[in-house]
Amino acid sequence: MADSSSVASAALAILRNTFGYPAFRGEQAAVIAHLAAGGNALVLMPTGGGKSLCFQIPALLRAGTAIVVSPLIALMQDQVAALKEAGVAAEALNSSLDGQAASRVERAFVSGQLKLLYVAPERLLTPGFMRLLAQTEIALFAIDEAHCVSQWGHDFRPEYIELGQLAERFPAVPRIALTATADALTRTEMRARLGLNDAREFVSSFDRPNIRYGIVEKDQSKEQLLDFLRAHHAGDAGIVYCLSRKKVDETAVWLSARGVPALPYHAGMDARTRAEYQTRFVDDVNAEGLTMVATIAFGMGIDKPNVRFVAHLDLPKSIEAYYQETGRAGRDGKPASAWMSYGLQDVVQQRRMIDESEGGDEFKRVAQQKLEALVGLAETAQCRRARLLDYFGETLSPTFHCGNCDNCLNPPTVRDGLIDAQKALSAIIRTGQRFGAGHVIDVLRGTATDKVKQWRHDQVKTFGAGAQLSVTAWRGILRQLIALGHVFVDVAEFGALKLAESAQGVLKGTTAVNLREAEERPRRTKSRTRSGSSEDTQGRTTNRGSVSANDAPLLQTLKGWRLATAQANKIPAFVVLHDATLEAIATAKPLTMEDLQGISGIGATKLNRYGEQILEIVAAA
Ligand code: ADP
Ligand code: ZN
Repeated sequence: MADSSSVASAALAILRNTFGYPAFRGEQAAVIAHLAAGGNALVLMPTGGGKSLCFQIPALLRAGTAIVVSPLIALMQDQVAALKEAGVAAEALNSSLDGQAASRVERAFVSGQLKLLYVAPERLLTPGFMRLLAQTEIALFAIDEAHCVSQWGHDFRPEYIELGQLAERFPAVPRIALTATADALTRTEMRARLGLNDAREFVSSFDRPNIRYGIVEKDQSKEQLLDFLRAHHAGDAGIVYCLSRKKVDETAVWLSARGVPALPYHAGMDARTRAEYQTRFVDDVNAEGLTMVATIAFGMGIDKPNVRFVAHLDLPKSIEAYYQETGRAGRDGKPASAWMSYGLQDVVQQRRMIDESEGGDEFKRVAQQKLEALVGLAETAQCRRARLLDYFGETLSPTFHCGNCDNCLNPPTVRDGLIDAQKALSAIIRTGQRFGAGHVIDVLRGTATDKVKQWRHDQVKTFGAGAQLSVTAWRGILRQLIALGHVFVDVAEFGALKLAESAQGVLKGTTAVNLREAEERPRRTKSRTRSGSSEDTQGRTTNRGSVSANDAPLLQTLKGWRLATAQANKIPAFVVLHDATLEAIATAKPLTMEDLQGISGIGATKLNRYGEQILEIVAAA
């Protein structure tokens, strides 16, 4: 390979000519240079950060074929379709091909016609495929979604463990592992298991500035969600995550009946329906604004750029899972929301799932710590973004305010909560550390329910000691005591609250307790109609359409053309051209091929393939 400056200019030429982008982002150029020169790399970049080009461009710079390991067929197919659209010889080998199609791909590979070959991990290490690899020059190995190798992770794939063998079998071929999950534990595991101890690490900031984070106290979560969607995301596409299949089904029906068109998606549905719904959601170019209500089975590798919101009706397992799931919003860089409703019951439920899981003690301990970190994020009165980034090892100044999360936009009141905390702890002790939050709150508020009377808890000293606060306020206090680690939920005892060791300091008054004030329940928005666009409190237009009103008809025409083109070629619409590219065309109204070439997202192949059609549409507008 030639010297480094000529590699850099060759890489830039490919970026411009083949992919149609003017400049590299963040660490892309550095990763590409390192890999092209034969180095191993571990790349940690947030979703939408541009990981694919980090191996696609070296694949074009080096001799031979790049082998890309990818865990999901949908993900492979989208990338291969996009590469072909850009004029790059790429194919995928996976179970969706019949025998004949697979042999065609294999022959093209062995005869050196492919620049990139995508394969599923379980196929890569089969003897048959190993024989093919031995006959062919390999440019590099790229291991996408490399966090799948982590046993503690949310996407663990046992086949990924075997990929460690590549290091021994192909010591001379550079390897790159990429992921958007970057906590310290996963990072260590990826290095160890994938034989990447010598790999250079490239870490981008994990900040997704266009995502607005917000977490609300759970209080009739479906209604809360509907209010949120009506106020901020009328007509937008988004994903709603629920824990159980049953809740997915119910929520999809419930939302649809209230004017939010929604489809369910979970592993209990038959594969055909699932695939059909996924296509409807992903290819939805006319922004019919579909909402996918799903379990976590949905989403990995869903490369839909214009998901405007991701909502969680139930608490995920960890900050990594939360970050990964919310990261599916706003891949196009435009404003998007991550919204979650969360309550004490969520913590109990997740703890129960950990407890009942098959894992050993070590697994349960790690899972428990991860859950605690997420509860801490949900309860913090500080900037959510700062807290999230801190978890991924990016420490910001303590006074950092992102200005784009609920706590920054609407700072919660924090008060000295020592006395209330002591009352709550005392009520837990005096009722024998055997009851859940509901009963403890009844005692605190002096509510003489049958259960309270049956246990004679109306006789204990704390009975009624907290009558001045509402049930919601007490729930908030108990949740925060759990988040602070002073109280824990004993699942083995049906969710009984118990004191942790650190509670002693609170009881003695030597540990300060700052509590965030319970939020007053926001008034429900009354509007029953779906408006075409809406403004949020910051006056930001949240609906699609970031072109001027004058250019909107042209944009619509371009979208219609894109839909027809996508359908004719059986590819998702965004593979033809992204929204952002169509918007740039509608605004710039290029008249010549040269003008059109200057628009981000138009590479040489797309210019050839679509240039004239686009110019015609613009000229006719
Ligand atoms: P990731 O795999 O990190 O989630 P992708 O590789 O899918 O991200 O890239 C996200 C989007 O950003 C894609 O639409 C891609 O074409 C675009 N992109 C990547 N690099 C650049 C760049 N240098 N300039 C402009 N757009 C880019
Ligand atoms: Zn913030």
